[in-house]
Amino acid sequence: MSALDELYRQVILDHYRSPRHRGSLKGPHIHAEGLNPSCGDEFSIDLIINDGVIADVATQGQGCSISQASGSMMTEAIIGHTPDEARALTDTFKRMMGIEEGESPLDPEKPGSVLGDLEALQGVKKFPVRIKCADLPWTTLADALDRSDA
Ligand code: ZN
Repeated sequence: MSALDELYRQVILDHYRSPRHRGSLKGPHIHAEGLNPSCGDEFSIDLIINDGVIADVATQGQGCSISQASGSMMTEAIIGHTPDEARALTDTFKRMMGIEEGESPLDPEKPGSVLGDLEALQGVKKFPVRIKCADLPWTTLADALDRSDA
């Protein structure tokens, strides 16, 4: 395992063990739930959008480390951003993972410069069955944003 792979593994484990923005919100503006049957992962998201910005986010779920770590990283990446920025980030993430066509958005010279901690998930690409695990929080987020008028 390369030093970078080991670093990525540590980042994923850290988010899995200490998930960010965990829980639920009182009176969320938007709530959505997702399921990845192939692995048994569950994920739900509460969003509060104020003045056109994702002001707060909370998630719940259970499942493998990949799905839950991806969700934890996602919360940090979208909070404080507009729904459109969150959608753009979703596209960037899906291109990194090879879920959507297009060039990889990453800069190989500067690890972490485009997607931050989320770049740790790129190694999952080698395990196609696990890509759905990493994608679950993003599919759930897209569902949530589709329900909003924002
Ligand atoms: Zn999984």
